Amino acid sequence: MTQVRFLNGLNTIGGNIVEFTKGDSRILMDFGVAADLTDETVASAIAAGKLPNVPELLLPDQPKRFAHEAIFISHLHIDHMGALQYLQTDIPVYLSAPSYHLYQLLIDAGIEKPVANLHPMAFDTPVQVGAFSVTGFASDHDEPGIMALLVSDGRRAYAHSGDVRLDGPHRDRVLAWAKQMADQKLAMFMLEGTTYSFDTATPVEDQAHPSAPLTEMALQTRLVELLQAAPALVVINPYQRNYERLAAIQTAAHKAGRKMVWEPTDARILRKMTGLTPDLIIGETITLAELAQTPTAYLLETTFAHRDWLTQLPVSNYLHSNGEPLGDYDPRFKQLQDFLAAQQIPLTFLSCSGHATREDLVTLAQLVAPQLVIPWHSFHPEREAEALDAQTRAEVLMPEKDLYYTLDED
Ligand SMILES: [Zn+2]
Ligand SMILES: [Zn+2]
Repeated sequence: MTQVRFLNGLNTIGGNIVEFTKGDSRILMDFGVAADLTDETVASAIAAGKLPNVPELLLPDQPKRFAHEAIFISHLHIDHMGALQYLQTDIPVYLSAPSYHLYQLLIDAGIEKPVANLHPMAFDTPVQVGAFSVTGFASDHDEPGIMALLVSDGRRAYAHSGDVRLDGPHRDRVLAWAKQMADQKLAMFMLEGTTYSFDTATPVEDQAHPSAPLTEMALQTRLVELLQAAPALVVINPYQRNYERLAAIQTAAHKAGRKMVWEPTDARILRKMTGLTPDLIIGETITLAELAQTPTAYLLETTFAHRDWLTQLPVSNYLHSNGEPLGDYDPRFKQLQDFLAAQQIPLTFLSCSGHATREDLVTLAQLVAPQLVIPWHSFHPEREAEALDAQTRAEVLMPEKDLYYTLDED
């Protein structure tokens, strides 16, 4: 008998964690955090529902309950992997090979804490964990190592969409896994619902700036235009885990006749994850003074921590491209806005969502055609539930946190 327990992330964006158990076997999928853990101990965070109710994995010296167990991580966003750093066991943790390599880079850079037992897994190749086999499929999101995950217990198949979009550069990957999953006749499909979270259909990052959201491809074109029009230095703040975007930014700089100047960490990520050679690295191969001399020759990456650089430079535009701070829910966002205003540097948003539109989420559910669909990873899963109920043949369930569900009773 296979039991499913939803440990978190049912009514919020991210933090989603699901557990499958059968006899002496257990797998967990995703292990994220969506809440603020400052002023919490691990025990108090579990009690408050901010960390998942698996004290046997998070508190020291707990007896082992399963002979076979593993955690599978769909991708390397905090809301899907942020709780890994609290593990107190050496439970194996599987990620796609690209996400695994990115994780190692972030650990080496001191951005992520080390985790005991990380493993890369190949796409399309099942990993056996006791009674379960788990297969990861390449997908499309703004972390390019993203996987959609398929679980089989030998009798039935279940799947986790991961975060997903259909208007990105890898739509073909999403359609391919949707087809594979349709062939499996899924007993259950967990589908993210980020874009159902808000009163408008605009994706999460753009709530404060209701301009039309760009696709990754349109973003690159727009960047070239902005660079060509700029009379001085242009600064960009991208999200470093989207290394395909980093590559696109350097390519766009070249199209506009500029050289790209990276911060050292992102230069390393660009080189290791994409094979591209970074043009220039600030503090290593070029100085701020040199940038100030010929400002129209460069596009400069500047993270929030280094914004003070801009006081010494002739900057004509600050491009916010999904870097941190991401939006006005982060108190640093106002600091950034105030700083740029004081420097009289215009702020331009050049962002692109990693999440499918509402229509595309319904399309995906129609393509996968599961028996049961679970909307989650949304502030308003009931809105997604309503759309799925009206537009697909699947039964729709909004599960309760921490309850055990049995899906394979005859
Ligand atoms: Zn997410
Ligand atoms: Zn994500």
